[in-house]
Order: sequence, then structure tokens, then C-alpha cells
Amino acid sequence: MNSFQYSRAQDVADAIRQSAADRSARFIAGGTNLVDLMKYEVERPARLIDISRLPLRTIKKTPDGGLHIGALVPNSDLAWHPQVKERYPLLSSAILAGASTQLRNMASTGGNLLQRTRCLYFYDVATPCNKRKPGAGCAALGGINRINAILGTSDACIATHPSDMCVALAALDATVHVVGPEGERAIAMADFHRLPGDTPERDTNLGANEIVTTIALPERSFRTHHTYLKIRDRLSYAFALVAVAVALEIEGGIIREARLALGGVAPKPWRDPEAEAALVGQSADRTTFAKAADIVLRDARGFGHNDFKIDLARRTMIRALDQAAQGTPQSQSDKRIA
Ligand SMILES: Cc1cc2nc3c(=O)[nH]c(=O)nc-3n(C[C@H](O)[C@H](O)[C@H](O)COP(=O)(O)OP(=O)(O)OC[C@H]3O[C@@H](n4cnc5c(N)ncnc54)[C@H](O)[C@@H]3O)c2cc1C
Ligand code: SF4
Repeated sequence: MNSFQYSRAQDVADAIRQSAADRSARFIAGGTNLVDLMKYEVERPARLIDISRLPLRTIKKTPDGGLHIGALVPNSDLAWHPQVKERYPLLSSAILAGASTQLRNMASTGGNLLQRTRCLYFYDVATPCNKRKPGAGCAALGGINRINAILGTSDACIATHPSDMCVALAALDATVHVVGPEGERAIAMADFHRLPGDTPERDTNLGANEIVTTIALPERSFRTHHTYLKIRDRLSYAFALVAVAVALEIEGGIIREARLALGGVAPKPWRDPEAEAALVGQSADRTTFAKAADIVLRDARGFGHNDFKIDLARRTMIRALDQAAQGTPQSQSDKRIA
């Protein structure tokens, strides 16, 4: 039994104060990831700071036409919000492709950004893991690495980031707003999650004692040509082996703007500016899509059990780009369960 203190934050400033006073404290929002990590003894916080009642549950249109999403908005509320369903359907479908209805009701937007990898060895404290214990080694390198990454890996860690929502946020160029002891700052989604390098224990660029307060979406929403295509072992309630978010602007069959983000294959939502540039100005057909997919995968590397992901990612990108070009989004498990 590991005992810990529990306290409730009165406001954002109080949450930061409490966190700064206790280095081993953790914020808890929906608890759907953190409580599991505590049960497996991957996390052993001396204090839980409950932020779930802070007033960060609103979704507001901004004067410049974008959307501000409070960090405590539950994933379900976000996916079904009229502004999101109508204006950012890519985000809605990505969220609904994740977890289960019950989990999405509990899970918060901020917690989803900060959920940790699903690498099997990260959760098994009997095995070496550099992310859990820096310098210990990486059991996945020579172990069962079927779900691990093929892009952005290092000799220290080959884990993937598991979120679906974050892949859509990356494609939509979202910004993460945070507050800490030094004040407020905004972090572009592309810079929020980190590659492992030789510090795999740090998943994100969130500073010590900083709290995520808002996620901002720009006005650009790609309502017509978008797709979130998630390939997984079961049709629901499973993490992505490969996921692809696509947002295109097409005029007269020619691609004018392209966003392509991948999940399930890298330690962070994966975007490749060169591949996106290769789509722009080209006709929206499979030859163009295949070239872009090859660019994304030029440095892909498998580790044995996950070699299949390279070809799977190529085929998934081509299919997702094709679906988006045709205006036939997939992965919309949009049937509300009463
Ligand atoms: C069985 C199962 C299946 C799942 N399937 C999927 C899936 O297919 N796709 C998918 O994307 N996700 C999936 N999830 C993950 C789920 O989406 C996340 O667990 C959830 O989004 C985390 O949100 P939370 O509010 O519960 O976070 P918590 O568990 O409360 O916190 C997670 C982490 O975030 C930190 N944190 C929380 N809020 C803030 C904040 N505002 N500022 C700073 N730090 C914060 C906490 O300190 C903690 O470290 C699954 C989870 C489970 C248990
Ligand atoms: S891949 Fe990363 S998370 Fe998995 S065992 Fe290796 S170091 Fe740990």
C-alpha cells in the first residue's frame, strides 16, 4: 500500500502553489490514466492535487473566429459540441475513435494531452525502461515491440504517444496555453510533445509546476476534405497501430493546402512539412498520395515485431488522403449511445 495525500485546488494559482510546494505531487483530472499508473506503481505521487473542479470547462468562440477549449472539458463534451461537430469534424472523429464512451466521459482534454505511452514495458516495473527509470535500459528494443514506434525513435526509447485527439490537434495547428510560477505561455502543438533523444523520461515541454488551462484552435477548420482513419486490433476500445489525420483544401482537383498527421507510429503526433509540401499544387490522386507517403516514411525503421507498421502506415496514409479528397471521412463512430 502506497499512501498519499489528497487535496483540492481552489483555483489555478492555488494548483500551481500546491504543486511547487511538493515535487512529487501530481495533478489529477479525470484520473483515467494516472490512477492506472499508480496501481501499477509506475507513478508513486506523495500528493494528488485534484484540479477537476477548476473553472476550465468552457468552449468559447474567439473574436478571430477560432475556438478556446478549457483543459477540463471532458472528451465526450468536446467531441459532441456543436461548434466542434460542425466546424472541426476532424477533431470530433479523432476523439470518438478513442477509448470508450465511459472513458471519454471522464477523460479531460488536458489529461488526454498528457497521457503516457502504452509501451508494455513502461507499465511492467519488473523490466528495464528508460522512460520510467532513466539509465535502466529499454526492454522493448529486444522485446515484444509490435505496438512501438517506427519514426522519431532513439537508442533510449521507441515508445509511441497513444492519443487520438492529439493527432487531430496537430493537423489543425492547435496551441496549448499553460500557466506556471513564471506566468502564462503558449506552446504550438508541434512543440508540445518531445522526441525521446537521450531524455525519454520527459514526454512534453510542459515545465515543472505548469498546468494546461486551454487549447486554442485557429479559424481554419477543413470542414469539407478531412479524414481520421485509425487502424487497430479491434474496431473499438483499442489504441491505434497506425492512425492518420488528413485535412485538405482542394480546388478543381488540385490540392491547395495539405495537413497530414500520424498517430501510433512515433513518440509524438507526426507531421512532415516536406510531405505536405509535396502534396500542394498536385492533382488529388493516388500517385500524388503515394509520393507523399514515401516521403513521410523515408527514415522509418522497424524493430522486429513492428516492421509491419511501415507498410501499414503507407497504405493507411494513401487511403486516408483518398477518403479526404473524396469527402468521405471515416472513423466516425458518431452514433451516440444513449
Ligand atoms: C482502457 C483505456 C483505453 C483508452 N483508449 C484510448 C484511445 O483509444 N485513444 C486515446 O486517445 N486515449 C485512450 N485512452 C486514454 C484516455 O484518453 C486518457 O487516459 C485520458 O484522456 C486522460 O485524461 P484524464 O483527465 O483522465 O487524465 P488523468 O489521468 O487525470 O491525468 C493524466 C496526466 O495528465 C496530468 N494532467 C491532467 N490534467 C492536466 C492539466 N490540466 N495540466 C497539467 N497536467 C495535467 C496528470 O497529472 C497526469 O500526469 C484510454 C484509456 C484507457 C484507460
Ligand atoms: S520503448 Fe520507451 S517506454 Fe518502452 S521500455 Fe523502452 S524506454 Fe521504456
